[in-house]
Amino acid sequence: MNHEKPDFEVGIVGGGPAGSSMAAYLAKAGIKCVVFEGELFPRPHVGESLVPSSTRVLKELGLLEQMEENKFPHKYGAVWTVATSALTADHQWEGLEPDCQANLRFEEREQPGVQQNYTYHVDRGKFDLLLLQHAQKLGATVYSGVTVKDVDMNANGFAQLKVGLGAKEMPVNVRLVVDASGRRTFLGNRLKLKIKDPVFDQYAIHTWFRGYDRGSSEKQDYIFIHFLPLNNSWVWQIPITKSITSIGVVTQKMNFPKERAAREQFFWDCVGTRPEIFTRLKQSEQMRPFTEEGDYSYAIKEICGDRFVMVGDAARFVDPIFSTGVSIALNSSRFASRDIIAALESGNFSKDSFKTFETTIKRGTRNWYEFIAVYYRLNILFTAFISNPKYRLDVLKLLQGDVYDEEQPEVLRKMREIIHIVENNENHIWHSKLGSLTADVLKSSFA
Ligand SMILES: Cc1cc2nc3c(=O)[nH]c(=O)nc-3n(C[C@H](O)[C@H](O)[C@H](O)COP(=O)(O)OP(=O)(O)OC[C@H]3O[C@@H](n4cnc5c(N)ncnc54)[C@H](O)[C@@H]3O)c2cc1C
Repeated sequence: MNHEKPDFEVGIVGGGPAGSSMAAYLAKAGIKCVVFEGELFPRPHVGESLVPSSTRVLKELGLLEQMEENKFPHKYGAVWTVATSALTADHQWEGLEPDCQANLRFEEREQPGVQQNYTYHVDRGKFDLLLLQHAQKLGATVYSGVTVKDVDMNANGFAQLKVGLGAKEMPVNVRLVVDASGRRTFLGNRLKLKIKDPVFDQYAIHTWFRGYDRGSSEKQDYIFIHFLPLNNSWVWQIPITKSITSIGVVTQKMNFPKERAAREQFFWDCVGTRPEIFTRLKQSEQMRPFTEEGDYSYAIKEICGDRFVMVGDAARFVDPIFSTGVSIALNSSRFASRDIIAALESGNFSKDSFKTFETTIKRGTRNWYEFIAVYYRLNILFTAFISNPKYRLDVLKLLQGDVYDEEQPEVLRKMREIIHIVENNENHIWHSKLGSLTADVLKSSFA
């Protein structure tokens, strides 16, 4: 071990929710850490609806008061809709509105460590800036507009980040590197650890609208997922403020137009298949140009190693259908920071030191992944389970983001079992409703 002092104990690449929450946890524990963020905040970012397991982290970091002061819309629940014309008798469940497949309120299940019956939707420009400034207030050093260009994992007993300063690169020695670079996967690319998801190849196109009519019911501040009559395609509707709504279309790569110019029309064609949404959008004002997100699902073979840990999207990206990303980012830093603090105390920075983090976060993302795969494979099963009092709270537990404590949640095992029955029986009333994902996918070692 090198007994000289590094510039910082921990160097964090990226200041999104993963990087800033990591910096906040470490700074709170008195650890000298630095965040390099390539962009100048506030900047727009996709991923605007949280799940309640994020609230635990916001509470631990002392951010809940500021969340309220900033008036981020309260998210009490979620609604899934399908085109009324697409509804068949077996889609309809007692007590639901005509186009509604399922809805839920988070307060139906108590969450240990969470005192609120709501979570938040966030303007990511504002939210990410708030988190980063909070980390700074707690004692982290933050450099914004500074990109990490390269890393040497073995520089005389330290890791050395090469930080861009104009045309020059400045070396910064740290004991440990945390990669929180998001989907740019800084270390995953350099160490050649990234594997493309063999199943999910989704694309998205999205923007903000002012004056979109979200209705007058108690659900106007819920997230809405509107299904489209196109394979594995849906629209998100996320409140950003009282008058601003984020709308995005998600579809498979094969549906997404290759030419840029055709994509805006594609957005309108897609929402046009749900005339009630189309009409309300056309009556509102588009506030920003469209933004696209492409082919974003992947895994990373090793999410930690000697002197490094990856958190948030830098470690894994799973399809966003259940609004999981920010929660995974925050919780991965929550778990990883504990191992990092212990490693700094013991002076052992080998991969083994991050085992608890690795096991916990892999368990959680595997559960998310399976839930999402089951959902795409047999959508109606999700509706059936959430409408069944026997399973409703177990499904809600997953949707709240409490996915880290069980190796094989019973509700997922049961869903898989039913899928196999439906797949193997051509006469089953749900057989024709099977999506294009295959059973092999559900067994895949990728998950
Ligand atoms: C279509 C779509 C819809 C989504 N919807 C939701 C949703 O509703 N809810 C939800 O929770 N999540 C959603 N997500 C996921 C969410 O966007 C991410 O999971 C979340 O932003 C991850 O946070 P992060 O901190 O890991 O990465 P990011 O938020 O991407 O932050 C990474 C930061 O690192 C910086 N950076 C990168 N490389 C470097 C470098 N070399 N040097 C310095 N800085 C660097 C970047 O500038 C960036 O600011 C969605 C994602 C997609 C694609």
